[in-house]
Amino acid sequence: MSEPTDAEARRAVAPVICYPTETLAQPDMALYASALAGARKVSEVLVPARDAAVFYVPAGQIFRIRCIDGPQVGDLNLWNAADLSERFYSGKTRALHGSHISTGDRLWSTFPHMRPLATILEDSLDWYGIDGFGGAVHDVIGTRCDPYSAYLLNGEQYHHCCHSNLTRALADHLGVSLTEAELHVHDVLNVFMCTGFTRDTGRYFMKASPVRPGDHLTFFAEIDLLGALSACPGGDCSAEHSSDTAACHPLMVDILAPEEAAPDGWKSPVASGYDRSHGR
Ligand SMILES: [Zn+2]
Repeated sequence: MSEPTDAEARRAVAPVICYPTETLAQPDMALYASALAGARKVSEVLVPARDAAVFYVPAGQIFRIRCIDGPQVGDLNLWNAADLSERFYSGKTRALHGSHISTGDRLWSTFPHMRPLATILEDSLDWYGIDGFGGAVHDVIGTRCDPYSAYLLNGEQYHHCCHSNLTRALADHLGVSLTEAELHVHDVLNVFMCTGFTRDTGRYFMKASPVRPGDHLTFFAEIDLLGALSACPGGDCSAEHSSDTAACHPLMVDILAPEEAAPDGWKSPVASGYDRSHGR
């Protein structure tokens, strides 16, 4: 159809937020801060450059992803350690909290569970905000770099995309085939990555991550978690990924245990109370 005569008026209608969160229970950040203040590091997992590593975090403990060597983006997957069918739901996390997440935001799990897997306690890059291009840090809009898109666009076989890194690490951890492990890999939280959508065409863009050694993103594990982190072959993602051309660096994951086994007043969240009758 042709443009209506009131096209400009239609474009001028103000948007509304899809998922208002006024009724969403807010995390008790004071409780988390006291848990973090008394926490001590109990283990660490090194994520080699252009590779991935798996880590386990019991409910009530804390994990911290650290930039240790040079600017590097990380692709994070999270699962319920007891049931890998419950995993991080990037799309719904985006719908609830926005395209990029930071302190106080939560990483939600897939249906039918839909509960917080983790809560962000600290973000040393929260100074960055939203830049003039619309870019911001720690997105839940990208998927993960993967060899299928690389093949589609370039006809090449590249094996160190985050998707493959996560697949290998999970297969080794679970003692299962790559084919089986691959099915558990899902859309990620792009840790330290700086991304947005171009204003003129709405296309997904990336630019050099502002992350520096010493920067970190800290999470509270709301349930027993299995995590996997890939050090993206894009390095700081300033130019390209899915190749060996970018400078890449390792990342570190620290596991920290609060003084109390379960912080006072905190309870591991239960699955969604929706009755799942779907109208029948
Ligand atoms: Zn990647």
